[in-house]
Amino acid sequence: MKTLEKFTFGIGDRFARQGKAQLAAIVEAKKLGADIFPVWNKSNREHVTIHTHPDTQRTEADAAVKALGWTGSYYVDADHIGLKTVDNFLAASDFYTLDVADFTGKPADGKSIRAFVEANRKFIGRLTVPGIGQTLEITEDVIAGAANKFLLAIQEAGKIYRHVEERKGKENFVTEVSIDETDTPQSPLEMLFILSAIAAEGIPAQTIAPKFTGRFNKGVDYVGDLARFEKEFDEDLCVVAFAIKEFGLPPNLKLSIHSGSDKFSIYGPMNRAVRKHGAGLHLKTAGTTWLEEIIGLACAGGEGLAIAKEVYRNAYGRFDELCGPYAAVIDIARDRLPAPAEVDKWDEKRYAETLRHVQSNPSYNPNFRQLVHVGYKVAAELGDRYYKALEDHEKIVAQNVTENLLERHIKRVFM
Ligand SMILES: [Zn+2]
Repeated sequence: MKTLEKFTFGIGDRFARQGKAQLAAIVEAKKLGADIFPVWNKSNREHVTIHTHPDTQRTEADAAVKALGWTGSYYVDADHIGLKTVDNFLAASDFYTLDVADFTGKPADGKSIRAFVEANRKFIGRLTVPGIGQTLEITEDVIAGAANKFLLAIQEAGKIYRHVEERKGKENFVTEVSIDETDTPQSPLEMLFILSAIAAEGIPAQTIAPKFTGRFNKGVDYVGDLARFEKEFDEDLCVVAFAIKEFGLPPNLKLSIHSGSDKFSIYGPMNRAVRKHGAGLHLKTAGTTWLEEIIGLACAGGEGLAIAKEVYRNAYGRFDELCGPYAAVIDIARDRLPAPAEVDKWDEKRYAETLRHVQSNPSYNPNFRQLVHVGYKVAAELGDRYYKALEDHEKIVAQNVTENLLERHIKRVFM
């Protein structure tokens, strides 16, 4: 298998125009001593909405790497793919995020479940996982319960993995298993059995994306019980380390945090826990860079600001259509959204400060930010007019993109 480095940073780019600006943040971080590697991620859902093909992501990544003289590894992630969507990504990607969340909660066949319980029977009793204070109470029912919830999903991940392996060759890609897009978080104990199933299925997973406790809303800060998150995250790291040894999973297996941008309040705890355990980390971002494009355009004034206002006006009018697909990952208080007629009166500074994720700024409005976040479809519909504005204002957009990733993300998570 292709071996992923310890610290990797998922950079997503809806419109494939910020490759250089994003990589520049990682280059800058490297100068400051952070050893992180870029993974360009874009989901099938985004490609469909914007009408792009995965090959464009590869072209963008290669071009940025060449332009900036990046000599380290870099990856192109087929993010959230399944058997039905993976084939489009076979040429472009060398990182595959096998999304099997839809298969969770549906039981596998009885024979597989019985076999899984037998294979894990040795854990029945009180299990001590190094680093976790209390012992884990494991009964046959606990194992069967985990199998009923997750075994079918991991079997599906096995099918997708083998599909990719046959076509790409074992040595040529990195595998992630994601189960983050579900309603209920997975406990560290469930994670243990998910990893057991992944190993039994023969999937050399190097990253695993569970659903954590709390809300990971798009483009805004974490909402939830911080102490509980910190404990769960710490225990997940212990379980991953234990599972690597116990099940013979790849020694660099690490957690992957989806919707990882802008979760400022958990970056400190994550950073501390990862250091404490000597663990690796993969953090995925995407929408935050699209928001910086709009901030950059707003700052540019003129046609740039006009487009930023138009995106908001349009998104405001199409609230249900745009928010619907993201219902599980946004929380917008509609009565806190400014009317488009009011926004039309704003100058560059007011628009940028309302959208930019600086919580100490009194103008910052997370409701406005989340609505613009789901409004990328509107920008996609503007087509060449949007692309031309990005080109005309490349410098100021790039400045915002780079600064956001470096100052508000990389420095807090990885340094
Ligand atoms: Zn995800």
